[in-house]
Amino acid sequence: MLDATTIYVEKLRNGILIVKNVPCKKCSQCGEEFFSMTIMKEIEKLSKQAEKIISEVMIIDYNNAA
Ligand SMILES: [Zn+2]
Repeated sequence: MLDATTIYVEKLRNGILIVKNVPCKKCSQCGEEFFSMTIMKEIEKLSKQAEKIISEVMIIDYNNAA
């Protein structure tokens, strides 16, 4: 597993949330990406906040938001 960053995309009620530069672990063989528990919780928090204010597409940078 390698340290990497990825883009997280989630469809919310009123739009689509895109989070850039999310830290993840990446499988060096198949390229599959995994989030740690801490990151998952942080993303969940971000998407709850985003759901209140989102319209259409919202793009945030994990480094600035979390
Ligand atoms: Zn793999």
